[in-house]
Amino acid sequence: MLMLTPGPVTTRPEVRAALGHDIAPWDNDFKAIYLRVLDRVRGIAGGIEGVHTALPLQGSGHFAIEAAIRTFVVPGDKILIPATGRYSESMIRLAREAGRVPVILPVAPNEPTDPGLVATALAADPSITHVGQVYSETGSGVIHDAVAIGAAVRRAGRRMILDAVSAFGALPLDLSQQPEIDAVVFTSNKCIEALPGLAFAVSRIDRLNACKGQAGSWSLDLADILANNGRPRFTPPAQIVAAFDKALDFFDAEGGRAQRLARYTANATTFYDGMVRLGLTPWLQRAHQGPIIVVIRAPNDPAWNLQQFVDALKARDVLISNFFNTPTPSFRVGCIGAIGPDDMSRAVAAMDAALKEIGITRREAACP
Ligand SMILES: *Cc1c(COP(=O)(O)O)cnc(C)c1O
Repeated sequence: MLMLTPGPVTTRPEVRAALGHDIAPWDNDFKAIYLRVLDRVRGIAGGIEGVHTALPLQGSGHFAIEAAIRTFVVPGDKILIPATGRYSESMIRLAREAGRVPVILPVAPNEPTDPGLVATALAADPSITHVGQVYSETGSGVIHDAVAIGAAVRRAGRRMILDAVSAFGALPLDLSQQPEIDAVVFTSNKCIEALPGLAFAVSRIDRLNACKGQAGSWSLDLADILANNGRPRFTPPAQIVAAFDKALDFFDAEGGRAQRLARYTANATTFYDGMVRLGLTPWLQRAHQGPIIVVIRAPNDPAWNLQQFVDALKARDVLISNFFNTPTPSFRVGCIGAIGPDDMSRAVAAMDAALKEIGITRREAACP
């Protein structure tokens, strides 16, 4: 089965096989794996040894995003969140429910955040302490310019929390050049191509020490993870950590982040071109189309039914999400995971056949 949900993703059998051992999380053999993983993650983030540290957290991406907000934003303080789409909405809710105050910056649903507007919003309200930015908006496929937005945050003397959940390991990131970043957050099951259950933040050690004790949650306090010297505080998903370590071996063997981005870009281009060839309408103009996920507008045909389409695809060994995150109906196709352009061509052919099977004759969208 080709899994084109953009996280969890198609994984290699060797990565899944790493689950097949009982592991005692407090055992010294496991400790070596754990510390190695943290080192490798800091390296991929462009973090500096002794300055930055990788902080693992049980659970999915939302847990780590909440932990970053709680750890670094003082209760009652403001965090500016550009409204990129589905995942900015998550950040807004996490901030609000944690008692921090989200300030929403409107962004068009199919365009990148304008760094100039971030600078203007920060200048207009000096009481905003943080910017919470989604790097790759998985709801739409738009990539937001984390470097330019970070520079605006730095110039304004504020701090940034970067949701890089669907970016980390593929899109460029160099924490050594972005001291304004308090935390970059990601999970095991997207561009690293491992299994779900583990999230990470990579943060500056000086900032963690300066922000002790304000999280208002023991389990979601990143500073408390550091205080435990890189040892797990609570039972870690040890098998998932082992599988993640194995996935990092494949990441290195591929040539690292730049090579992974090149493969994903080839995947997305192959798929985007294939959709246009089939007469379907991508959600994004080519200029704004990122390499992580391609969203396609629902065909303007009364026979369109997303669940039927998903089922017809599944019968052809291709699995996509049975929901969409755009303001108008669409379907989402992930271009990440242990897959290549040939797999994307196979998906295009399966979609052509599935559309015929469910009786779609008009494939273009109502309003392109
Ligand atoms: C997947 C994702 C998340 C986290 O989702 P979880 O289901 O909590 O792992 C957050 N932000 C973005 C941009 C994502 O793609």
